Amino acid sequence: MKALVIAVDGYASCGKSTLARDLAQTLDYRYIDSGAMYRAVTYRMLQLGLPLTESPELDQLLQTLDLKFIKSEGVNQLIINGMLLGTELRTKAVNAAVSPVSTLPSVRRAMVVLQRSYADGTGLTMDGRDIGTYVFPQADLKIFVTARPEIRAIRRQAELIALGDSTWTLDEILQNQAQRDRIDSNRDFAPLKRAEDAVDLDNSDLSREEQLAWALKWVEERGGV
Ligand code: C5P
Repeated sequence: MKALVIAVDGYASCGKSTLARDLAQTLDYRYIDSGAMYRAVTYRMLQLGLPLTESPELDQLLQTLDLKFIKSEGVNQLIINGMLLGTELRTKAVNAAVSPVSTLPSVRRAMVVLQRSYADGTGLTMDGRDIGTYVFPQADLKIFVTARPEIRAIRRQAELIALGDSTWTLDEILQNQAQRDRIDSNRDFAPLKRAEDAVDLDNSDLSREEQLAWALKWVEERGGV
């Protein structure tokens, strides 16, 4: 029995974070939402009015970036240079800019260094796009999640409403999802793709509990605790 590194990758709004979080909670592992890290950098770039391209100002931002995850009331929260970020990471502006920002090699390099530093042998689940292919190619368990686009959009809309944002139509969400998936899959640096040794989960017709039970069987199969 060992503490595993579990990579959960897949397309936008497939329920990756829910699964990775549920696994971490059940196994008493650390959970890292790598998408929130890219969103935090994007948020800062927009706040500072930086172009969404490589620039000396971006280098400066990345050098002075202080990103921390803290656990508060059982929820992981992201602190960027002393600022607690929550709903700011899910605005339309951030949603539109995050995939272009995530193509930038300087941003990815900085995030990957941080992401690797979270694997300290005590058990980790991380969700994203390139966790099994690039960040942790030796991960003990790689799960590639898919779900039908309409189901993903309905789930994302419910999540946004729960966060207090009911301004998104299903169409807008579908378009944003498709656009992010396209950019994420086609970038040069660590694009979104299924790792060859990943196990596939289509959770379109599964409940949260069912997908967790499915994943826990794989944890057991890999000798995890
Ligand atoms: O997971 P989430 O949808 O919050 O991720 C937001 C965006 O961050 C993705 O659309 C993608 O552009 C970027 N991302 C990435 N690599 C990761 C995680 C997220 O490029 N490992």
